Amino acid sequence: MERPVYCHGWLRGRPNCHPVHPMKHMGIIEDLERNHATMLSWSIMGGGAISLPFLEEQIYGEVPPQLRFHGYMNEKEFNEECLKRGILPFAVIYEAQGWEFPVVLNEEETEILEMNILRSGEDVKWYGLREFTNNQYHKLFKKKFEDYFPGGLYNSDGENVTDLWTECATKDMYGNPTHCRWVEVEGLTRTCHGMCRNNPVWREYLKKNIEIIIDAGARAIQLDETETPICLFGAGGCFCKDCLKQFRVYLRNLKVRGQLPKEMEQFDLETFDYAKFLRERNITWPRNFSSIPFADLYWRFHVETHNKHFQELVTYAREYAGKKGIDIKVSGNFTNMHLLYLPSLDYVDCCTTELRRTVFKRHNWLRMAAGYTQDKPVVLAESPYDGFMPKFVELIHKGKADDYYRLFMMEPAVHGISMAFPYGAWMGNKTKDSFHAPYKTGEEVQDFLYYHDDLFSKKSGANVLVLYSFNSYMQNDWHSGQGENLFYTDADDLLSYSVTYDNRAPEMPFFDITQKMIEKQIPYDVKVLGDGDLVPDTFSIDDLSQYDMVVVPGCDWLTENQAGVINEFAKSKPVYVYGDFAQNLADAVDSLKEQPYSVVVNETGEAPLKEFIEALSAGYDNFRIIAYDNANIYIQKAITGRGMVLHLLNYAFDKEKYKTIRQSLTIDIKLEQFKHISTYTLSGEQIKYDILQSPRQGFVRLKLYDVPCYGAILFHS
Ligand SMILES: [Zn+2]
Repeated sequence: MERPVYCHGWLRGRPNCHPVHPMKHMGIIEDLERNHATMLSWSIMGGGAISLPFLEEQIYGEVPPQLRFHGYMNEKEFNEECLKRGILPFAVIYEAQGWEFPVVLNEEETEILEMNILRSGEDVKWYGLREFTNNQYHKLFKKKFEDYFPGGLYNSDGENVTDLWTECATKDMYGNPTHCRWVEVEGLTRTCHGMCRNNPVWREYLKKNIEIIIDAGARAIQLDETETPICLFGAGGCFCKDCLKQFRVYLRNLKVRGQLPKEMEQFDLETFDYAKFLRERNITWPRNFSSIPFADLYWRFHVETHNKHFQELVTYAREYAGKKGIDIKVSGNFTNMHLLYLPSLDYVDCCTTELRRTVFKRHNWLRMAAGYTQDKPVVLAESPYDGFMPKFVELIHKGKADDYYRLFMMEPAVHGISMAFPYGAWMGNKTKDSFHAPYKTGEEVQDFLYYHDDLFSKKSGANVLVLYSFNSYMQNDWHSGQGENLFYTDADDLLSYSVTYDNRAPEMPFFDITQKMIEKQIPYDVKVLGDGDLVPDTFSIDDLSQYDMVVVPGCDWLTENQAGVINEFAKSKPVYVYGDFAQNLADAVDSLKEQPYSVVVNETGEAPLKEFIEALSAGYDNFRIIAYDNANIYIQKAITGRGMVLHLLNYAFDKEKYKTIRQSLTIDIKLEQFKHISTYTLSGEQIKYDILQSPRQGFVRLKLYDVPCYGAILFHS
């Protein structure tokens, strides 16, 4: 597994100010080496969101002697020092951010005396994308706009662009720029316009940004805010001229294909202005999204377009590097592994994903992420909003969070997913702090992951497959966040945090069912099914060869091929269907019901869900490969080159002492044979065990004693 570092490097007790990260120094390199870092996310070169000369200053700028004394480096030097040590920093491009900051300059306007954080408050001027475009303070960095764009930049109306900041801003339905509220720091400036990547001018700008960082020696790029402008929907965007124009083209193409909604047939698709349409009806975007006329269509258009433009930039980066004989790695930010990024999966080398909320025990989400990303490395990053992060950081400061931290890092690891080691990680725009691992415990976990890398694998050896359909869930998956509410019984007890849904959230049977399967100790893998359009449909009966059962929750849309494969499987092995099944195909559900091994529960709701889970659970007992008798424990099986591993996470917690309560348990595990057993814990101590039953009828019974917050059992093959 990768050992990524969330390497913002932000300072303790200070606000995190995008898009400029604090300067890096040799001490950081030593920390990264000591913690066995393999790659850095959100690490360097993000200044293009202010201006390209600013970015180049970040990369190549002179470092004053006082800072040299303490080992500080510019970003080019830092990147080189990392690469020398086999650490790959991902240079970040903030695709959705366009900034302007308050500055105080010297009289000649050749030097920035104050920026962002002002001392004097005197003679404040502004510097950012707008001033870069009009060369207002070009003496600062001794470079002009024309040095980057000799022929100028022209927008889709053919006009010469004189203000990038306004030109490329995401706009609400009234034409006002919308803001990236998530990075505008409270108490400081509020000057981050969302940037719309549907505007070809912004894509030209981003491409120049890409060229600069590749020329500076970056060997990996993280295109953050991958879905822009969708990330601005909540703030009211985007209805800029390019979004509206491209939507018209999209509608005209639908018309050609005979797929235009009936209600739109009378519209003049040469002039249709969706923002005006909404204004005339006094509709406020995006409130009550599901009831807004054509919102679904506008959403689908944006999903297709954001993938197209993201792929255009990735392809450009690879081609530009390729011409120079350089192999670069590219990653996006597939936030919360939402399905709307899936069409671009093949374009990235690694999936970086910010959690929507950070709470414990979301193993069903982690199973989904493992299936979604297939064989690609996954880098998980906490989210500071609406989860336990602010409390977690507070407890770390008090020295009360060591076992929480161990769980935090090991929960994803047991699924073959890497939680990014927090090194000055982001705490949002409200908490004046940054997230660092508790020093010694941080090292302990990193050492373990380094020395025992061979215990971890995405291969689970599960015998149940759960299907998750792109077309059935893509929109609801994004919007279900609207009805998410954080719930906890004790703010100090991070394990009491969970998420509940209210009636604003669309139904997500996939997550309802898989959560219950986790509780019932039914191990499973996830397969995401494409729609055969944006995401290829490669599903075949071979994908099911290792499974004894298939579960199909809420897959109301399937391709003919997918329905056929499921139907075929149900001739010889159980298929459990919950909710709607392939409504788009006539007779699909009737045909499935005729198969001898299909179990179909069409209704949804509390009672049908209970009935379904009971049936599934009873059915699974015929194929059960694992069972254990302690509800405080979660066990994840992994198939590795050395043998089968059982990873154990222990959630029994003493809220007074802030410590895991050690647990004993008995496990029955299906295993034909093994040579011997090794046990592992983070501290290096062994786990005491008795073999109550050697492999007999294919099962081993094991009694484990005093399991700490994490442990692993390896059955050597
Ligand atoms: Zn736009």
